[in-house]
Amino acid sequence: MVERQLVRRGIRDQSVLAVMRSLPRELFVPEEIEADAYGDDALPIASGQTISQPYIVARMTELLAPRAGMRVLEVGTGSGYQAAVLAAIGCSVISIERHAGLAETARARLSQLGLDGRVRIEVGDGSIGWPAAAPFEGIIVTAAAPRVPPTLRSQLADGGRLVVPVGTSRSQDLVGVVRLGDSFDERLFGGCVFVPLLGAEGFKGEETLDSAPDPARDSAPNSARHDG
Ligand code: SAM
Repeated sequence: MVERQLVRRGIRDQSVLAVMRSLPRELFVPEEIEADAYGDDALPIASGQTISQPYIVARMTELLAPRAGMRVLEVGTGSGYQAAVLAAIGCSVISIERHAGLAETARARLSQLGLDGRVRIEVGDGSIGWPAAAPFEGIIVTAAAPRVPPTLRSQLADGGRLVVPVGTSRSQDLVGVVRLGDSFDERLFGGCVFVPLLGAEGFKGEETLDSAPDPARDSAPNSARHDG
């Protein structure tokens, strides 16, 4: 998985590659599809959600420029895999999930891997971040937002980075934001397809009627599509 899907597509961050080589991804997918855990696709998990394609996890993590001790907020815990990658790199992670069942399962997996000391999983609307623990040096949103959520931007520390897929509920661009004092430098990093971020600063219900859960979401290309 790491050589063919990540290195060949340009992932260079050695800590990301090392962690994704060693983390047992099969622990994060439903038992009946364990055999597909290292494939080049997003996969369905409980509650109609997805675990993102390995490439998009690596790309978003690399864009966050994680390092040991960095304080990171993840929005969209899902399976817990992305949080595990960040924790294994040494980040201190708060991860928010709107489905209590997914949060519970993810907590159990992280504890099984001994990573629970570095990850706190909360249930709630992560589109408005986690004010009590702000500011964050990194914020990673693993669901599609209609725009960069202003509240998340405001929870960035000076010099901090936010990575978020932004677009319609059908397709998005990966956006990287770096905070420099009161200004925000925004760049685009290619197309992707994620399940929607629902909530106060995400999509509202009626905006996503065309977006039934689809395991083909949450990845990256053919040559340029990334599924998160
Ligand atoms: N990072 C996950 C992983 O490693 O498995 C994949 C996340 S999945 C693509 C997107 C997740 O975002 C879903 O679990 C969904 O329930 C969650 N989500 C959507 N809107 C949310 C919100 N406002 N707050 C928190 N979680 C949200």
